[in-house]
Amino acid sequence: MKYSACFDIGGTYIKFGVISSSGGIFTTGKVATPKENAAIQIPEIIAHQVALMSQKYEIQNIGISACGLIDHERGEVLFSANIKDYSGLQLARIVKEKTNLHVSVENDVRCACLGEVWLGAAQGKQDVVLLTLGTGIGGAVVINGRLMRGAGYLAGELGHMSIVHDGESCPCGFKGCLERYASTGALVRHYTRISGNDSANGNDSANGKEIMDLVKKQDPHARAAYDNFLDYLSTGLVNITHLYNPEVIIIGGGITAQGKSLLEDIQEKYQHKVMDVYKVSTEITLARLRNHAALYGAYTVVNQVEEMVR
Ligand SMILES: [Zn+2]
Repeated sequence: MKYSACFDIGGTYIKFGVISSSGGIFTTGKVATPKENAAIQIPEIIAHQVALMSQKYEIQNIGISACGLIDHERGEVLFSANIKDYSGLQLARIVKEKTNLHVSVENDVRCACLGEVWLGAAQGKQDVVLLTLGTGIGGAVVINGRLMRGAGYLAGELGHMSIVHDGESCPCGFKGCLERYASTGALVRHYTRISGNDSANGNDSANGKEIMDLVKKQDPHARAAYDNFLDYLSTGLVNITHLYNPEVIIIGGGITAQGKSLLEDIQEKYQHKVMDVYKVSTEITLARLRNHAALYGAYTVVNQVEEMVR
């Protein structure tokens, strides 16, 4: 059997694994994302891991899922605010020079979406949207079984759809973006604002879990912040439904560890807002692959199995 070496470059870790065509995943691991000289160190880390993987597996190519705005055709990082010295990195070219293997690079949310289409919550679906809730909101759109990339490889940034005219300022430079109201980061900010309880020690994901624990204990501030979050999130989901009428909108991110109760709360708000005619064809669900989604997606991109999963 032949295998692909797959990597998922995030702001904190570079995760990796060897993936087979049947969806088997082997020798998974992670290393810390370098804080300095990322443009030199990241390709070196990948080449080193590929050399280790090659001792045991016949690696035929390398699929890379990468945070930031990615030019898939050139395998280049166009921009990322998360990692220093990373924007402008010609990742595919450099890794290919070091390993002599074919390399493809795609954005991590898009990879996660393709992973869910291949083996997760959207198996067998043609029209799929993924929204990942974290500090911000990531988005990816699959139409007719194909990833929507856009003229400048920038399609699907659903977190930056504006839902409040002249609303909160967003790091993207615009105002009122969905991610300012419906991300885990927004839930945490809103709770902190109305409760006056600034216990934000951990990251947004950890703080989001704390707030959800308070919701379960009937804390009124947490409840109000959560209701506000659900209101905006469901409005965003209705907009997405009207744009794409997908078979499924998958919600991912750390907060989805809340499981069924979160999904039911989202679905209830959504059902009240969306037009009846859409209810039969568009479903809302939670991501299923969690940690390995982007690795699986990186596999589908480098092996061009978008056709295969149709
Ligand atoms: Zn924005």
